Amino acid sequence: MTVATATCISPFARVSGCDVQVPLVQGGTCTYANFDYAASAPALASVTDRISELLPFYASVHRGAGYASRISTTSYEDSRESVSRFVGADEDQVVVFTRNTTDSINLLAGAVPGDVVVLDIEHHANLLPWKNTRVVEAADSVSETVWRIAVELERAPAALLAITGASNVTGEVLPIAELADLAHACGARIFVDGAQLVPHRRVDLAELGVDYLAFSGHKLYAPFGAGVLVGRRDWLDEAEPYLAGGGAVREVALDHTEWACAPARHEAGSPNVLGVAAIAAACDTLASHDAEAAARHEELLCAQLVEGLRDIYGVEILRLWDDSTDCVGIVTFGIEGFEPGEIAAYLSAEHGIGVRDGRFCAHPLLARVGLPGGAVRASLGLGSSSADVDRLLAALRQLVADGP
Ligand code: PLP
Repeated sequence: MTVATATCISPFARVSGCDVQVPLVQGGTCTYANFDYAASAPALASVTDRISELLPFYASVHRGAGYASRISTTSYEDSRESVSRFVGADEDQVVVFTRNTTDSINLLAGAVPGDVVVLDIEHHANLLPWKNTRVVEAADSVSETVWRIAVELERAPAALLAITGASNVTGEVLPIAELADLAHACGARIFVDGAQLVPHRRVDLAELGVDYLAFSGHKLYAPFGAGVLVGRRDWLDEAEPYLAGGGAVREVALDHTEWACAPARHEAGSPNVLGVAAIAAACDTLASHDAEAAARHEELLCAQLVEGLRDIYGVEILRLWDDSTDCVGIVTFGIEGFEPGEIAAYLSAEHGIGVRDGRFCAHPLLARVGLPGGAVRASLGLGSSSADVDRLLAALRQLVADGP
């Protein structure tokens, strides 16, 4: 089958790390080909620019009267607006800054007043933090999976359906709007783990009917250390503060504490001003670009990668559902006769290509598809190009031709 090629489209090519030279085991260097965006995405140029602008004004936020503190405070609070706009939050939804998606989910887990329904294909971050969890086994089709979730939500009252927007293993996208309607019809709310969906698709909470969303800066073209939880205010205002300490309170006496409302309630301690500014810059940049064009670009690259892989002897691509299922740019595969770690090490050492191998913090999913030893994941992002996909495919063809 012939697949149309896609080259790196200009507004998105401004991703750092596109021209990094890496050493090869046979000597010399080559340009790094990054296929590990799903783990962490390199910073957008606009993000590094924003950090450089803010760095001279690096100061503790809130209540500082000095110029630097006022600049930092304004940047920090304005960042909530950028995030809120980017994800289409409504007035009832508050933006809490956290360390990452895992942190956001742990925070929300302390605020949920009842059972949480989850699928068995989730990343550990969307499995382990919840209390009173009811696990639904994903079926062989999306529609059957949705039906199973409906049955579980109707069977007994649940407070929350917690579901991934896109699988970090297969890239498959869940029908979020449909699931939101379903949860609401059963008196539950919906939380979306947006760690993999938000970097690839425009997520509009109001349009989708989503109550809570989490994502990580480091997967959204911003550096490590800051993440987001956006969600309905009431549970967050009623919950125990996620961290106890300065900034989360209105009044403290030695025998009594009056806690602040969200977001301050859950943001005790000096916050990560630069990390938050970086997320906001990424949100602003992505909001100003054509998300559909970016998704089409990625779809072409993904098709090129999948078709190429299918032509290589012994390759098996991991998917839960059929080929018509919407996917973000994540392709996980194994090659008969080769260990995943061996494939990843070969690609890096001999071809300067970065992929990920292992079980991707989704042990139940890997066990369920019969790959307890793991697989190889190639993931795409805004700096990915058709030439990089060709390089990956050529390297894998050579590996298979040379034999285990
Ligand atoms: N959820 C999904 C779907 C992920 O892919 C990841 C990370 O890979 C996480 C949650 C956890 O993200 P973080 O490590 O940034 O907390």
